[in-house]
Amino acid sequence: MLRCSSPSIIFRILFYGEADLIVTFFSQDAGLLRGFAHNARRSRRRFGGRLEPLAEVDLAWSDASRGGLLTLQEAQMRFLHLGLRRDLEVMTLASYGCELVEALCAEGEPYPEIFTMLQAFLGHLEQFPASPEVRLLLELRLLSLCGYAPRLSACCRCGAPLTAETVHVDIPGGALCPFCAKSALKGRAVSLVTLGTLFRSLQVPFTVFDGFHFGTQTLQEARLILTPLVRHHLRFVPKSLALMGTSEP
Ligand SMILES: [Zn+2]
Repeated sequence: MLRCSSPSIIFRILFYGEADLIVTFFSQDAGLLRGFAHNARRSRRRFGGRLEPLAEVDLAWSDASRGGLLTLQEAQMRFLHLGLRRDLEVMTLASYGCELVEALCAEGEPYPEIFTMLQAFLGHLEQFPASPEVRLLLELRLLSLCGYAPRLSACCRCGAPLTAETVHVDIPGGALCPFCAKSALKGRAVSLVTLGTLFRSLQVPFTVFDGFHFGTQTLQEARLILTPLVRHHLRFVPKSLALMGTSEP
C-alpha cells in the first residue's frame, strides 16, 4: 500500500452516510484526485473539520482503493481561507477558479504550475475584491498552462504579423490575418489593442494578480474571446457560473 502526502486544495466534499466524506482535491504533487475520508465528521484528530472547500491542507492518503477512491488518512491545516467567505462575489470567483481547474485538468496528473497559480489566486482574493481582470487572468493563464492558449501576437494559421486595427479571432486557434479571416467561419472581431493587452498579461509571472486595470472595451472584447474559448475546452460547465449572472463560461 503506497502512502502519499502533499499540500492540497479542497475542491468539493460530499457527505456519505453518517460520518464519512468523499473529497475532491487538487494536490501539488499528484494533481486532481478523489478520496474517501472514513469517519471524517467524527475524527477530530485526523481531520478535525479541516476538509472544507477552498481550504489548503497537508493531506495524507493511501492508494487503498474503495469504490475507485483513494483512502484519506489525515489532514493538517495550512490555510483555511476564511477571508474568501466574506463576500458572495469573492467566494463565487474562488469556487469558479477551483471548478475551472477541475474541468480542465485530467485526473491523477500533476500540474505543479497550476497548483502554484491557484494558491496565488486564492491568496489574492483573500485580500482584494473579485474583479473582471482577475477572472480574465485566471482563465487565460489556466488555458495557457493546459496548452490551450490562443495565438494572440500573429495569425494562428499562417503566422503573418497582425497589422490591422481590428483583428478577427478564431476559436480555439486565435488571431487571424485579413487573408485567413476571409475563410474563417466564426471569426470574432476585436481590436489589436485588446489582443496586445492579453498577450502582455501572459508575459507577467502567473502568481501576480494585483495591479491589473483594463478599460471597458478591453474587458468586453476579452470576454468575447475568453467565453467561447473556455467553453470549448471545459469538460463540464461550472456551477458557480449561475451565481456569476451567466449560464455560460
Ligand atoms: Zn493568416
